[in-house]
Amino acid sequence: MKFSDYKYERPIYEEVKKEFISIIDNINNSCTYEEQKENIKNLNILRNNVETMATLSSIRHSINTLDEFYEKEREYWDEYSPLYEELNSLFYKSVINSKFKDNIAKDFGKQFIDIADYSLKSFSSEIIKDLQEENKLCSKYTKLLASAKIDFEGEERNLSGMGKFMSSTDRDVRIKASNAYYNFFKENEEQFDDIFDQLVKIRTTIAKKLNFDSFVELGYIRMMRTDYNAEMVKNFRSQVLKYIVPVASKLYKRQEERLGLDKLTYVDEGFEFLSGNATPKGSSEYIMESGKKMYSELSKETKEFFDFMMENELMDLVTKKGKAAGGYCTYIPNYKAPFIFSNFNQTSDDIDVLTHEAGHAFQLYMSTWIDMPEINFPTFESCEIHSMSMEFITWPWMDLFFKEDTEKYKFIHLGSAIKFIPYGIVVDEFQHYIYENPNMTKEERKNIWRELEKKYLPHKNYEGCDFLEKGTWWFKQGHIFKNPFYYIDYTLAQICSLQFWKKIREDKENGWKDYLDICKVGGTKSFLEIVKIGNLISPFEDGCVESVIGTIENWLDNVDDKSL
Ligand SMILES: [Zn+2]
Repeated sequence: MKFSDYKYERPIYEEVKKEFISIIDNINNSCTYEEQKENIKNLNILRNNVETMATLSSIRHSINTLDEFYEKEREYWDEYSPLYEELNSLFYKSVINSKFKDNIAKDFGKQFIDIADYSLKSFSSEIIKDLQEENKLCSKYTKLLASAKIDFEGEERNLSGMGKFMSSTDRDVRIKASNAYYNFFKENEEQFDDIFDQLVKIRTTIAKKLNFDSFVELGYIRMMRTDYNAEMVKNFRSQVLKYIVPVASKLYKRQEERLGLDKLTYVDEGFEFLSGNATPKGSSEYIMESGKKMYSELSKETKEFFDFMMENELMDLVTKKGKAAGGYCTYIPNYKAPFIFSNFNQTSDDIDVLTHEAGHAFQLYMSTWIDMPEINFPTFESCEIHSMSMEFITWPWMDLFFKEDTEKYKFIHLGSAIKFIPYGIVVDEFQHYIYENPNMTKEERKNIWRELEKKYLPHKNYEGCDFLEKGTWWFKQGHIFKNPFYYIDYTLAQICSLQFWKKIREDKENGWKDYLDICKVGGTKSFLEIVKIGNLISPFEDGCVESVIGTIENWLDNVDDKSL
């Protein structure tokens, strides 16, 4: 069935609630496990229906934000989602207290039980007011960013509108644009500091009320990290320091030489080639046709997947009036259908949609057997393995899209993965310090940030910008404000995807088999279990980074970047 024929009908909360509670009663009163399992299945039919409607409404609203019908529906879901969430927690309670808990774990996965357990642990009615306060502060941060009005080159611009000037081929433009951009943060320094300070304090209060020593532990629980802890993450950070930082520094040095600069400073970091970035060659129709060819050649599973996505019109990729910004991949349970949304903009991002978002979608397509909505997707660090690895697995087809720019594309792609990891580590270590010491002053926080940059990003040069020099870069990093501890996830997934990069080049058949295996389990397994299923080395084990970095460095060294 085509996406346009998927039927949307707003659920009536009171009715859903009545049915939900009656099924919960049945679950609680089941005499045998068979009976309880049947009731859980019934509940999932109800829950998947709600989920389907919520998702359909949100997709259609994002495709056309001017559509009045779905604007009204969005308002409904904004208001009612927390109430549906509350119903779910009744289910989690039943699961955790079930005398057949072991059987549930056997059928639906221990990971599901852990998720139910963690959901309960991170909530209590005592913290509702604090959670509302936390949300308010997050919205305040978003609003503050959105309030930016920067006069530049005769026009008033917002922060993202400055992007193209900050990566201009003309260095003077980059300098002027960067000055204007960071000046906004400087002018609002006190506000950023205050919002963050309040967030740290309210999160610490919440953690204490839930009987945790600090927010660090609660942060890990909120991220559903069921099988690793802060100590293990620390080991990964030290591997990055030892093995990745030197390779990243070398890349910045090459960038400096390639651009003919005396010193690469913060205004040049995002600018790779005087000749511009690699761009896709051909219209969006051509890109889609090439995507089809790529996935039909990659494997029989990916062919079937991509044909399914095309036939059922499950990809809305081209920019049009009224469409929301950005890109995402989501899942519509009743139709067992992934959905990909994006705004093609004639940059290499368009191809990333076809590889990265399609990687997420392919995982969902391979795990449609899962009926428990909590575990369609795995947790974030595992999710991104599927997407980031697909970006690398599809390398052999990049010449379809980039033609003469292919080598440039690959060099930037692999290079930015290496450059990204140390930055992700800074964000992560920073947050550990912050939440372990919630009473630090604003100045102490900035000093720590700058110290961490010096440790993991030694190339950083803020010449001409005292404001960034004192440690304020993180003001623009939304995760630090809105999604605490969600950042190491990208680096964990990235190091796993780099293992796939290496593996698939050395042994395509087994590499692909490992990838398929991790897609099939969806979210039924924890991160370290998925790592194991994929025959990957755990990022927390010594030797993980070392196992790939040599090959990567070699590949990068062999590119004559100055000729690109
Ligand atoms: Zn992703």
